[in-house]
Amino acid sequence: MNEFSLIKRFFSRPAEADSVSTGVGDDCAVLVPPAGQRLVVSIDTQVSGRHFPVHTPPDLIASRALHCAVSDLAAMGAEPLWFTLALTLPNVDTAWLQSFSEGLYSAADECRISLVGGDTTSGHLSVSIQVHGAVPDYSVLLRSGASVGDQIFVTGTLGDAAAGLRVVQGSLRPDERSAEYLIQKFYQPQARVRAGLVLRYLAASCIDISDGLLADLTHICEASGVGAVLDSTRIPLSQALLASVPTGEALELALTGGDDYQLCFTAAPAHAEQLLSQTRSGALDITLVGEVVAGSGIVDSNTGQPFRYQSKGFKHFT
Ligand code: ADP
Ligand code: MG
Repeated sequence: MNEFSLIKRFFSRPAEADSVSTGVGDDCAVLVPPAGQRLVVSIDTQVSGRHFPVHTPPDLIASRALHCAVSDLAAMGAEPLWFTLALTLPNVDTAWLQSFSEGLYSAADECRISLVGGDTTSGHLSVSIQVHGAVPDYSVLLRSGASVGDQIFVTGTLGDAAAGLRVVQGSLRPDERSAEYLIQKFYQPQARVRAGLVLRYLAASCIDISDGLLADLTHICEASGVGAVLDSTRIPLSQALLASVPTGEALELALTGGDDYQLCFTAAPAHAEQLLSQTRSGALDITLVGEVVAGSGIVDSNTGQPFRYQSKGFKHFT
């Protein structure tokens, strides 16, 4: 099977969205951006053995790569529209490609985003996904929007994916149910698109948590020229995580572990109240974890001191 028949067989499902005039198959896709909105664009690369374990099932490689990429759109408060896929394959394995393609399209349906093009090459397995989304200009969520007095929130629970990776790698062996839950959190992150769409009107700044809360909240603080106080006793930890490691370790995973793809955002107190009432009604799953303060850096409100952890999130080239 050559490159062209491979694309035709696995990556040419017609895009049904009105925003796609011509999808996969021509030199370029022809797209119809929503009138009056800003386009937001981001690209993410996942290299086998680096971003996911070598033996990851292909459908999970695909769905995870797409959700990780779309997570950046969620963090901007954007609605997902289109993505392109640059796929580097060591060989053509049709069973592998079938599973990859199924995982990709089912994640695309979950995120309501259309595959409109890509590139296929041979080499070490790697998956690059460029995502495009739209957001009204006045409601784009930036890292730089935090102000002193904002409250700091996170969605979901933190630390699960980092623990899940340990389970996958065999260094953590929790009970069967917790293991299953944590592994799923690592392999099947869900981009928080719907939360982002609510937050676009209510949050002041936002980031997705890919490298641990401390590292990612630090990006908001630096971009906004502020500091943060976190209440470490309020960090949301899942039952499965707490059943798997001692509480102190669970907190460390939540603060410094990667791959959760939840959102961290700040909101002015008036909006924070609205957000919390949506949480009480079950429409959102957010937790208040701290407050934006003048200065720089992140302090634990329980000690008045900065957090002391060796690892401050994953960094390449260090
Ligand atoms: P070109 O040489 O003009 O760049 P290609 O031969 O690389 O075109 O690709 C042919 C068509 O298939 C293009 O529309 C391209 O966007 C699409 N395509 C290539 N690889 C992929 C892929 N992995 N997934 C989706 N579309 C792809
Ligand atoms: Mg061409």
